[in-house]
Amino acid sequence: METLNPLESAQQQIKRAVDLLTLDPAVYEILKEPTRVLAVSVPVRMDDGHVTTFIGYRSQHTDVVGPAKGGVRFHPQVTMDEVKALSMWMTIKCAVLGLPYGGGKGGVVCDPREMSDRELQQLSRAYIQAIAEFVGPEKDIPAPDVNTNPRIMGWMMDEYSRIKGYNAPGLITGKPMVLGGSAGRGEATGRGAVITIREAAKRLGLDLKGATAAVQGFGNVGSNTAKLLHEMGVKVVAINDVMGGAYNATGIHIPEALEYSRAHKTVAGMPGTTPLTTDQLLTLDVDVLVPAALENQVNMGNVAGIKAKIVCEAANGPTTPEASRVLEEKGVFVIPDILANAGGVTVSYFEWVQNMMHFYWPEDEVNDKLERMMVSAFKHVYNMKETRGVDMRDAAYMVAIERVAEAMSARGWIN
Ligand code: GLU
Repeated sequence: METLNPLESAQQQIKRAVDLLTLDPAVYEILKEPTRVLAVSVPVRMDDGHVTTFIGYRSQHTDVVGPAKGGVRFHPQVTMDEVKALSMWMTIKCAVLGLPYGGGKGGVVCDPREMSDRELQQLSRAYIQAIAEFVGPEKDIPAPDVNTNPRIMGWMMDEYSRIKGYNAPGLITGKPMVLGGSAGRGEATGRGAVITIREAAKRLGLDLKGATAAVQGFGNVGSNTAKLLHEMGVKVVAINDVMGGAYNATGIHIPEALEYSRAHKTVAGMPGTTPLTTDQLLTLDVDVLVPAALENQVNMGNVAGIKAKIVCEAANGPTTPEASRVLEEKGVFVIPDILANAGGVTVSYFEWVQNMMHFYWPEDEVNDKLERMMVSAFKHVYNMKETRGVDMRDAAYMVAIERVAEAMSARGWIN
């Protein structure tokens, strides 16, 4: 049976890295479950006057290298296991980049597309009220994730600041700039993903000018990745979102797609494109495939058809462990999620540092720092792959777990 529970995937991946590094099994024992998980009920008075109770979670995986860090997603399919897995992946992601954070993640089971602005604001505030004692600038720092954005971060920051009685921008990252958000945070995940694609292409001797790409998902991550690939001269031939897909063999004009999607709330039906399904998008004959949506999108049902040379996992957990092994056997160069999408949390880290200093950096300084950190993380992972003869995913987990285990040992948790 294919592993579709993200928590089991995360546990398997961590176990593999601990075994490959021949570390004390206690490392896995400590990391296999989050330190704390809070489940909350969040009642909201809806526009029609009745009260609906939403279920929310916040998971803190480990604080061994620093406070917990990670986004909050609003999605009908959020589960506690998913949030736990996502918090574990955040620990690993922060450790790959060498950030002083452990992993955190939150989620609320809801469908924001069905909610008014007022309802969304009420839900964001009520969720923060429910978890206020659990989070904080030195404890656990939320951020945007699937279906959440700077506006929602602004409401959450305001609610927390009211509860505390002082302005607390360091609670949360991905805020609007006027509230202490960082320049460059909006496109940071996409920018980081494109840096890793460039580094991978260099190693493969692939010229990205005129190369082709398909991007699954057109939220913050997918749309910015597509935009930056387009600016680099890559032909983005297919994009999609929950409503449908858009294909053009000669390349889609991404700035126009962004405008179209703003106006129509979808890329489906964009003039000059033909529709395509998600499976058709994932199995296109392209150089670069970017899954930038949800978990388990590349699975045993479609992996045999994947033709891309590079798969850049801009989403969290887009490939099942079994499909990941098939990609490796096929010789596909996989840039694992914990490296590919780490640009977001890296600039979140810069935002938090700027909030602590009350001193703000210009965008080119943020982008330069991001570039250096992503290139260095890629190099570390690639070197691990080459010296240990493992794939990029195992290599990234090994780089991360080595760091986390070193901190555990320095704290006296393990020998
Ligand atoms: N939600 C993003 C992620 O999965 C960003 C987290 C953050 O900035 O803390 O990496």
